[in-house]
Amino acid sequence: GAGPMATVPDPRDRLLGGLLSPDFDDSSCLSRYRAALYRRPSLHAISSYLVSALRRYESLHRRCGPGTPAYARAVERLRTPPNASSTTTNSSAGGCSYVVWNPTEGLGNRILSITSAFLYALLTDRVLLLHRGGNDLDDLLCEPFPGSTWILPADKDFPIRDIERLTDRNHHESLGSVLRRGEDPGVAPWLYLHLRHDYSGAYHDQLFFCDDVQAQLRRVPWLVFLSDNYIVPGLFLIPRYVGELARMFPRRDVVFHHLGRYLFSPSNTVWDMVMRYHGSYFAKADERVGIQVRKFPWWAPISTDELYGQILNCSQREDILPGVGVRVPADDKTTGAANSSGQPAKQKAVLVASLHGEYSEKLRGLYHEHGPSGGEVVSVYQPTQLGWQQSGEQQHNQMALAEMVLLSFSDAVVTTAVSTFGYVGQGLAGLRPWVLMSPADGKAPEPPCRRAATIEPCFHAPPNYNCRAKANGDAGRIVRHIRHCEDFPQGVQLM
Ligand code: GDP
Repeated sequence: GAGPMATVPDPRDRLLGGLLSPDFDDSSCLSRYRAALYRRPSLHAISSYLVSALRRYESLHRRCGPGTPAYARAVERLRTPPNASSTTTNSSAGGCSYVVWNPTEGLGNRILSITSAFLYALLTDRVLLLHRGGNDLDDLLCEPFPGSTWILPADKDFPIRDIERLTDRNHHESLGSVLRRGEDPGVAPWLYLHLRHDYSGAYHDQLFFCDDVQAQLRRVPWLVFLSDNYIVPGLFLIPRYVGELARMFPRRDVVFHHLGRYLFSPSNTVWDMVMRYHGSYFAKADERVGIQVRKFPWWAPISTDELYGQILNCSQREDILPGVGVRVPADDKTTGAANSSGQPAKQKAVLVASLHGEYSEKLRGLYHEHGPSGGEVVSVYQPTQLGWQQSGEQQHNQMALAEMVLLSFSDAVVTTAVSTFGYVGQGLAGLRPWVLMSPADGKAPEPPCRRAATIEPCFHAPPNYNCRAKANGDAGRIVRHIRHCEDFPQGVQLM
């Protein structure tokens, strides 16, 4: 809770209790100091320790980031690594160390893995740089660190060749390969960390989560980080980081809520989309509901009708949407904006985020036909219906981010189990969502949804190696505050 060292941010405090740096100019990123005005006030305290860790990180990034002499020296050392027998280590030479994030999977997965890489950078005094992949990161997010950039400069002579194509855990320079060969990872000029879900069963890659391997990695100046996962709960399992994490996050269940709002301010182009949708859909409403509908036909197929039934069933029994009353006679519709006592009806706006249009169409039809019920007028909107996932497309990602941000403006959110898109929306909002649980055998489960126990995302593919026991283990049974996820029992999350 909020001890003497913690402050609950006041929504009028544009720096969110010190989470945001004051050193930016407003116009280059309109959303940075404004997004919070559209969200429910955060109830989650920020520790002053986290605030100072962020300011310390920002000055490290300014000193070591692209364009600085220290950065040029670090790239040079990568090109011609100093003699291995030399006694000057990277840090004794006043050098900087880096973690370079490589993109993979959809925007939700990327946002969660960037957050993971950033927390790792905070814990290890490294500088986080993003490999921009194609053009899909362009004009998507604002720079989060003042006076510098977090984009790895395009450089065809960058000494780590084909860095963007590092995706293979058997690569010669992967941590797992080095450990498998019995070599000391600490002497490598750079290493590739393969932390993608397909490392399950690959115990050498999972040794990343062990304390002794972390000690060795401290000496490696460049790490390339690839993950499609929110590995943050795994960092809480590494003894050497536990104390620091407890000081940064006296409450553990708000890691993404804070770091996500710190890192991911939408660019002006995306903010403009958000403001347009907000203005036409959400602004006038008394109450805002976000419903995020995602289909995973390859592992959890469900028909449109069955899923629609699940959404309606969930929303009505949890009082998120009203039940439908009597049919309004056609010529009476204009009077539908007031209830029987003559009071103006409450306006409830429902924003549906989905690749598919059917769910919002059916909901809109239902509430349109039946008029207000229990004194509520329900209007249903869906900003886009793109049909299918195109994560390499710049405009596609811009719309996806705009919708994640709109979801975070809701008073109540309904999300789809296992979707990282939903995790980002709920996390930025700071709300525990109602989660539409995964179908079994094509049928909606009973109950159709559950109130999530935490606002934290689920780490879908935690290590199944227990470092201390040097044997297989269950990451959900090591400490009390890391438990199996309700929406995805193989995963673990912070409580
Ligand atoms: P996940 O697959 O649900 O975990 O979420 P990801 O964000 O990682 O990948 C899904 C991708 O599909 C998104 O990044 C979008 O590109 C697209 N997508 C899925 N649902 C939506 C949606 O509701 N709106 C928009 N605009 N795009 C979506």
